[in-house]
Amino acid sequence: MIIVMKSSASEQDIETVIQDVEARGLKAHPIRGTERTVIAAVGEERIAGLNSLESCPGVDEVMSILAPYKLASREVQPEQSVVRAGSLTVGNGNIGVIAGPCSVESEEQLVSAAHAVKKAGASALRGGAFKPRTSPYSFQGMKEEGLKLLAEARDQTGLAIVTEVVSPGDAELVSEYADVLQIGARNMQNYRLLEAVGRSPRAVLLKRGPSATIDEWLLAAEYILDGGNPNVMLCERGIRTFETHTRFTLPLATVAYVQERTHLPVVIDPSHGTGHTALVPSMSRAAIAAGADGLIIEVHPDPGKALSDGYQSLNFEQFEETMAGCRKIASALDCTLGAE
Ligand code: PEP
Ligand code: MN
Repeated sequence: MIIVMKSSASEQDIETVIQDVEARGLKAHPIRGTERTVIAAVGEERIAGLNSLESCPGVDEVMSILAPYKLASREVQPEQSVVRAGSLTVGNGNIGVIAGPCSVESEEQLVSAAHAVKKAGASALRGGAFKPRTSPYSFQGMKEEGLKLLAEARDQTGLAIVTEVVSPGDAELVSEYADVLQIGARNMQNYRLLEAVGRSPRAVLLKRGPSATIDEWLLAAEYILDGGNPNVMLCERGIRTFETHTRFTLPLATVAYVQERTHLPVVIDPSHGTGHTALVPSMSRAAIAAGADGLIIEVHPDPGKALSDGYQSLNFEQFEETMAGCRKIASALDCTLGAE
């Protein structure tokens, strides 16, 4: 941490801060400039809580020089993490493709989607059994019945299952059925839920909250890693901006930015990121060109009849075409796509 003193700070103010830093078990290195003094505090910041020094007389600002997240950072682990869960591999040139309906609606809907996405080359099946809906009057999911259908679809196709867990109390139940636990955008800052999935043996797909900064998102990942679960994938699913033509704004620069700072694989969700079926194929290709480690795409046998997010879902044919387009980009980058 760096403590920047005000130019009006007295010698006594500086001395008090140095003593306070040292009392916290850190080393204080004052650097005296002509205008002002800065004090570098060196040591274990995690327990020191130096931000409170900002309220001391003569202190202008307390700044961190390291990323606030540790376990997620490249500083701690320079090599890229690869997350494996059953048929799904994500990272290091393996572009994982997770596809399937927004919600599990029936056996026929789910099983037909599972076979179709597998045939098109997807590596995992998605489907929400517990749905966090904006309105309490919208379809809330089939809950455990839905989890059972997901397990049946896995038995039939061999595809790993990715499904959302919405409350800490459900984490164990969902872990019994799923290969990957999805933390939805609305729950990114549900810290008790992050702790619960941190204790799970299942991999986690952590969606970015629509209003969360990248630091807040990576700190959410840090909760899961700190809880003992190293298998975390980040998922950019679009953020809220002033633009209303797309459901959210999908910032693909996130991929390169986050990959520079963290070793965790980054998955792009072009379905929620755009909110329009027509935009999903091009944004899938663009995500791969940007270096994304995976895609999660909503696919429904009959999007017009979907109980949730039909307007952004692909039908089977559209998904096959999307995969064909993505494959060309992936091969130009020497990456493998889906279950290739
Ligand atoms: C979903 O994947 O269907 C979903 C609800 O996503 P998000 O949490 O990103 O809105
Ligand atoms: Mn959805």
